Amino acid sequence: MNILVINCGSSSLKFQLINSENEETIAKGICERIGISGSQLVYLAIGKEKTITEKPMEDHLIAVKMVLNSLTDPVNGVLKSLDEIGAVGHRLVHGGEKFNKSALITEDVISATKECNDLAPLHNPANLIGVAACLELMPETPMVGVFDTAFHQTMPEEAYLYGIPYEYYEKYKIRRYGFHGTSHAYVSKRAADFYQTEIDSARTLADLKIIVCHLGNGASITAVKNGKSIDTSMGFTPLEGLIMGTRSGDIDPAIIEFLSHKENKTIEEITAILNKKSGAVGLQGGGSSDFRDVTADYLAGKPAAVRAIKAYVYRIAKYIGAYTAAMNGVDIICFTAGIGENNSVVRSEVCKYLGYLGIKIDDIANEIIGSEAIISTIDSKVTVMSVPTDEELMIARDTKAIVGGDCGSGPQ
Ligand code: AMP
Repeated sequence: MNILVINCGSSSLKFQLINSENEETIAKGICERIGISGSQLVYLAIGKEKTITEKPMEDHLIAVKMVLNSLTDPVNGVLKSLDEIGAVGHRLVHGGEKFNKSALITEDVISATKECNDLAPLHNPANLIGVAACLELMPETPMVGVFDTAFHQTMPEEAYLYGIPYEYYEKYKIRRYGFHGTSHAYVSKRAADFYQTEIDSARTLADLKIIVCHLGNGASITAVKNGKSIDTSMGFTPLEGLIMGTRSGDIDPAIIEFLSHKENKTIEEITAILNKKSGAVGLQGGGSSDFRDVTADYLAGKPAAVRAIKAYVYRIAKYIGAYTAAMNGVDIICFTAGIGENNSVVRSEVCKYLGYLGIKIDDIANEIIGSEAIISTIDSKVTVMSVPTDEELMIARDTKAIVGGDCGSGPQ
């Protein structure tokens, strides 16, 4: 079956057409600047020329139409008709406490997802616009929603509750939700399979303690015990936890009021600074959020980048320590996403803190870029890996399972 995976942002739409039998990508691309001037579709069918179509896209419906036209185009297309798309898998960011797994999209599922819009006002409405556009153009094709938050719904109460009056959890559902769940689920499973093949054939995901470090523009760490997320660093929103490209991660909440008085700014303005001008950018006093640049400056000894990378790495190491305690041990630590998969400097600096766990890194193996590899030595007490994430494939797998009737679905 061909599965179209859609990841709709407020002004962008990423897509991938995946053959669910051999899990190969047939075509992929992105619509950028939807609803703003200069919109374009970048489209790549595997084995064909990449095309860039610059055309106004007033809304997501037009963007989805352009994607479907490209997929069925007589020259660069890969399908004879839309009937060859067996199902559509949609990335949905926030399923609140309503979804602990992916769900076949029905009217009820759409309403339950809308009820979570408050919790992800930048993401959920955009995701749902993508769902509506696809439903309008392919009303007979089954659609599945795959939630970023679902994997973390296994966290115990002591991990997801904040130390604030309990009534705020009851009234407003203020709690840790966690994000990047699709990536953490995919990578922990891959890591466990890899471990079983390479290290110990007797052990599986069901009895391993794994820490997944998803280090991309957004970054989060998850403790996965026996295949279940038991704690994760992002919280009520994706602002909590690690220092990121432009996000602060953990701070003392009192800083918000303090800064608001000192800088004469509203709470909304301070929150925007914490989201967009903090993290590695903020620590450098401006400059790039791209870790290729920050790392190059770090290696050149530029003080601003040294400051940023040291704080970035330290925070990751601190979380690894905390999650090792939470799981009473760790078997595998894996690095994933843009920085985790490609940046050997960050991996190496993080692991320098982890000697107390008996971790030893193989510096040659750690040079790996963008591939699956064990980067620790044979005698390392904990296996450290680089595992490329593949959220689209995970969405396609869930979609296939649900459309094929392998999983239950729907709001809890
Ligand atoms: P993501 O959000 O997963 O796309 O990750 C984006 C981050 O990954 C950026 O900070 C990039 O600098 C970093 N990144 C992506 N590709 C590479 C690469 N080939 N080498 C080093 N860093 C990379």
